[in-house]
Amino acid sequence: MPALPSLADCQALDAADPLAPMRDHFQLADDLVYLDGNSLGTLPKAVVARVAQTVETEWGTSLITAWNVHGWFDMPRKIGDRIARLIGAAPGSVVACDTISANVFKLVVEAMSLVPDRSVVLSDSGNFPTDLYIAQSALDTMGRGGTLRIVAPEDVAGAITKDVALLMLTEVDYRTGRLHDMCALTKTAHDAGALTLWDLAHSAGAIPVDLTGAAADFAVGCTYKFLNGGPGAPAFLYVRPDLQERVRSPLSGWWGHDAPFAFDLDYRPAAGIVRQQCGTQGILGMAALDAALDVWDGVDMHAVREKSKRLSRLFIDMTESACADHGVRLAGPRDPDARGSQVSFRCPEAYAVMQALIAGHVIGDFRAPDMIRFGLTPLYTRYADIWTAVTTLRRILDDRLWDRPEYKTRAVVT
Ligand SMILES: *Cc1c(COP(=O)(O)O)cnc(C)c1O
Repeated sequence: MPALPSLADCQALDAADPLAPMRDHFQLADDLVYLDGNSLGTLPKAVVARVAQTVETEWGTSLITAWNVHGWFDMPRKIGDRIARLIGAAPGSVVACDTISANVFKLVVEAMSLVPDRSVVLSDSGNFPTDLYIAQSALDTMGRGGTLRIVAPEDVAGAITKDVALLMLTEVDYRTGRLHDMCALTKTAHDAGALTLWDLAHSAGAIPVDLTGAAADFAVGCTYKFLNGGPGAPAFLYVRPDLQERVRSPLSGWWGHDAPFAFDLDYRPAAGIVRQQCGTQGILGMAALDAALDVWDGVDMHAVREKSKRLSRLFIDMTESACADHGVRLAGPRDPDARGSQVSFRCPEAYAVMQALIAGHVIGDFRAPDMIRFGLTPLYTRYADIWTAVTTLRRILDDRLWDRPEYKTRAVVT
């Protein structure tokens, strides 16, 4: 067995890490190892003051005039432009609104309307279930007899046949971290006459994304994971600029109207990406997200990716040497280029092991049936955190600390 890096080795890596100072932007206890920023990002300190200001001054004092004087009405579009930079999208092609689930519904219906002679939505079994549920319900609602076809992730390219209208995939598998090749699959889809809808839930703020370069047609994503927008923060959606005027939202609410305050009886879609909005957006959530995005100003996603790969390689190497004899096995690709910014392991008694880890101040999450999952968020994850996580895991397994009844009772949210 190769010698494991020591804590001092990991601390030396932190001392040389150009992203290390970013951790100061977040409210995070020094003795907490938080490896769950892929589920709920940590709190950026600036959010606290910004939300307080929005509540006390903007809402509390300006009241209804705040829609104009504090620019509330334009926030979804402006925040969309800030997110666009992080996902390789042109200004004016992203809007922050609603949830991923609602946005998937809108975009599946819109995409299908552009390919009226085809009826299949193709996805994979690694996709997040809500995307699949929603695609099915969009097809049912359309009543055109469309079908959702689900294949194994490795079979996607070969399954893009001439009846496929829309290829709908999540770029990074939420369980295993496996990364789809967005550029290649989008090209294969286009060559076969199909459109693409990419879910960037585990990509935005995690890995460099180039929607423009990939010529992706549609995309969705959330902001409460790697982008740290807070619980239930607004999601976002992307429509390729040349398609924007060709589609209409099936949830054609007044916020997507060309003149919402004309109160016309007829719907007339606004120009550009804002036609994708439905109704009044949650401004407190928008304010929190806007402040959370300040952290990303000037951050190079390629530097984030480099650190993420180093963290994950360290995590895998250490866990495999320290815990393999307890039956802990890497789930998903070993090659960091084939994986997003997370590492998952299959592990006996995975649920109880994760509860014991959380009790030991190492927070990851459990994914059914047998996975412990760790998100790597390079803006605030330290190399020393990996050392602490793996040594804590080994102690839990060596000493069977997971074997307690209270660690085996499942909570509602895992
Ligand atoms: C987290 C996640 C979602 C969540 O959808 P919401 O509607 O925002 O709750 C959807 N898709 C994927 C791939 C996710 O990882």
